[in-house]
Amino acid sequence: MSSSATQSTADRTGIGVELHRLIADLYPICRSITGQGLRETLRALESLVPLTLREVPTGTQVFDWTVPKEWNIRDAYVKNSRGERVIDFQSSNLHVVNYSVPVRQKMRLAELKTHLFTLPDRPDWIPYRTSYYKEDWGFCLSQRQLELLLEDEYEVVIDSTLQAGRLSYGECFLQGELPDEIIVSTHCCHPSMCNDNLSGIAVAAFLAKHLSLRPRRYSYRFLFIPGTIGAIAWLALNEEKISRIRHGLVLTGLGDNGKLHYKKSRRGDAEIDRAAAHVLHHASHDHQILDFSPYGYDERQFCSPGINLPVGRLSRTPHGTFPEYHTSADNLDFVHPEKLKESFDACLQILNLLERNGTFLNLNPKCEPQLGKRGLYAMVGGRADAGVREMAMLWVLNLSDGNHSLLDITERSNISFDSIYEAAEALQEKGLLRECCEFAPAEPAESLERTKS
Ligand code: ZN
Repeated sequence: MSSSATQSTADRTGIGVELHRLIADLYPICRSITGQGLRETLRALESLVPLTLREVPTGTQVFDWTVPKEWNIRDAYVKNSRGERVIDFQSSNLHVVNYSVPVRQKMRLAELKTHLFTLPDRPDWIPYRTSYYKEDWGFCLSQRQLELLLEDEYEVVIDSTLQAGRLSYGECFLQGELPDEIIVSTHCCHPSMCNDNLSGIAVAAFLAKHLSLRPRRYSYRFLFIPGTIGAIAWLALNEEKISRIRHGLVLTGLGDNGKLHYKKSRRGDAEIDRAAAHVLHHASHDHQILDFSPYGYDERQFCSPGINLPVGRLSRTPHGTFPEYHTSADNLDFVHPEKLKESFDACLQILNLLERNGTFLNLNPKCEPQLGKRGLYAMVGGRADAGVREMAMLWVLNLSDGNHSLLDITERSNISFDSIYEAAEALQEKGLLRECCEFAPAEPAESLERTKS
């Protein structure tokens, strides 16, 4: 058992502030599923983590999908007949429907309106719209802005390009003692949106930074990928790596005021599902565990039946259930340093649990070993109850028959993982216990066997 893995914290003072600062730095960039904004975002992360920028050419077949043309945009506006920009990409990149084809036309208001999107129920907010897989164009604006548009002839310009190019993604691989991997995946294809995409990017980047500075049992692979097509492309082009993935987390929506939500993997009982449930249950904050469903973020791809990886998702308020979702109100005020920190801590605790979840063998299995003579038992006779420490040792000794991991013992005993782990460490020091294999859980391997057959 490596003691380094038990070190659950580095100096994380002000990590919430640092996370928020990174979000603020990345906020103005016009990202999409391809293009320079995405590359600029990935390059900005290179200063934090050892990131490799990978590029997949347009037209590459990835399972049932094809890598699309690359989209780039320099400017976009709608000008009235007095030459005033009444809708201006320069004031918010949400004003243009993401992936709009180039346009340079004059038109009357009625025709223009067929290309405009607003949120009548939230008249001050700009919606976020995309048209990735249908060549089209449009502008998004607030309802109040729309109401100010008069009958006029408008000059409509979208100075974009949609051409053969590349789909970019970032990959940060941290070699551990074992080839077995934990993947952490986050989408990074949304323009100015803080909770949906930037909070996940920031938490993943700082987790990678933190893990890169300490010894690791597992190897880690962090993926900063455009949603859907990025995950599909990565899985299609890295099929030989899939069998090494033991656990995975999709991170997104980690900065809002809502409680933490962990969405289970398709398997539902994977070690990551149980680890996340335990960490959230023992944390002081309110939380909710969600069952898997085939809707959401990139867990859809990682948990598709032919891939079936034990990948869960950590978020705060689930996407689509808060009004700010996919609007200009998902801004810097919507994400909070203390919530980002809480999310970061929860991720780290889940990973720390996985790092330490070994399976042990009781070396003195015939009746209980005498703990008192080894200084392991509070030797005040007659007490009605054993303390948590003693109970943890008794559980570890009893269930360490090579078939129960520390997490199994934790769940069976209803004692915190940390107490169980400490008991195992103490027993190991006294020669009463030894780790019986690198890692007990055989479940991911089983799942891959099933996938293959
Ligand atoms: Zn989104």
